[in-house]
Amino acid sequence: MDLPPRVSRRTFLGGAAATAGMLSLSPVEFARWTAAGSPLAALPQGRRRQSEDEWDSYAKLHFNENPYGPPDSVMQAMQHAFKFANRYGYPDGDILQAITDLHGVRPENVVLGAGSGELLDVVGLAYLTDNDKRVVGSDPSYGSVYQQATSIKADAIKVPLLDDYRQDIPGLIAATKKHYRNTGFIYLCNPNNPTGRIVTKREIQRLLDEIPEDVPVLIDEAYHHFVEDGDYGTSIPHVLDGRPVIVTRTFSKIAALAGMRLGYAITTPEIARRLQAHQTGTINALVKWAGAAALKDTAAQAHVKQVTLDLRKKAMADLHSLGFATIPSETNFFMVHLKRPVQPVIEEFQKRKVLVGRPFPPMTEHLRVSVGTADEMARFAKAFREIFPGGATGGSND
Ligand code: PLP
Repeated sequence: MDLPPRVSRRTFLGGAAATAGMLSLSPVEFARWTAAGSPLAALPQGRRRQSEDEWDSYAKLHFNENPYGPPDSVMQAMQHAFKFANRYGYPDGDILQAITDLHGVRPENVVLGAGSGELLDVVGLAYLTDNDKRVVGSDPSYGSVYQQATSIKADAIKVPLLDDYRQDIPGLIAATKKHYRNTGFIYLCNPNNPTGRIVTKREIQRLLDEIPEDVPVLIDEAYHHFVEDGDYGTSIPHVLDGRPVIVTRTFSKIAALAGMRLGYAITTPEIARRLQAHQTGTINALVKWAGAAALKDTAAQAHVKQVTLDLRKKAMADLHSLGFATIPSETNFFMVHLKRPVQPVIEEFQKRKVLVGRPFPPMTEHLRVSVGTADEMARFAKAFREIFPGGATGGSND
């Protein structure tokens, strides 16, 4: 389990718990976030309360969010849906139809979730609760699935990334074959969080060709919308081929609806039914309408992608000019190799009102930076120069 190294019980109960209140997470959700080593731990610690003004004062480059907020089309859809606020039953904005139209699938292939995080949990509940089942996945990757496995007393078989920080597909195949009888499912985050690297279409095909056919594969495409690399492709066609593949998508990133909680899974009807039996989250009226509007506003998504990638490329070039190496990214975040422990540097950024990603063991010398607005990225660049006045070869001011 990748607990954040610097989160003591005291800070957990003090500042971090107050932060949970500020961020509207339930205590259970918050415990999960922090235990998973969430970047929540990077918020100011040791404080009882944090005002909205203070929250506003931070450049928030730690959660891979969309910093621009929903476009007008989506805001209007939510405004409209307020009239359902007092109802249990209401028209849902045709969210399911919008998803099936987009992917050319049937309603039976879709499972909606209160964020894709709910769906990742549900896959764990559906496939890891039998005797001694394990999830096979890469390390580091998005920690939620592994954390869920731990919380339901299941286990994870983690395969280290390759030297170039790509996922080790032959390694995942070998681990699955070796532990076939205990493998509940394989988890593949594509592109991967925290590294931003993709698994190619050919690699996914190879994985599916070489593992036993009945092993479910959960492919988390949270950052799908930011990918430019032509070797990448969504894994939804494998679902239509009848493989036990579950593809998850979220409205929290490109669609800027993280606080509203909506995601979905595309899978076979059999798997969909199995997942639905374990669902507990509820999806509110506003976000159903918002999600449908977001899928239709392709121009807004294209704009977010363009500005995000431009700012990412600029930030990375800037770091290269200072002598720092970065990992090639296909997402709205990137990692820079600091060649020194990242935790004190995170704290230096925090002092300068810039929140950056938490450490991702074993990559404890890499800093994950989400791409914010132009203003936030300028604040990041300024803080970086202050913390590393001599560039990569000089010392640092932490
Ligand atoms: N998957 C990945 C790879 C993520 O990075 C995140 C959030 O950061 C999620 C899933 C969960 O997203 P949500 O529950 O907001 O849809």
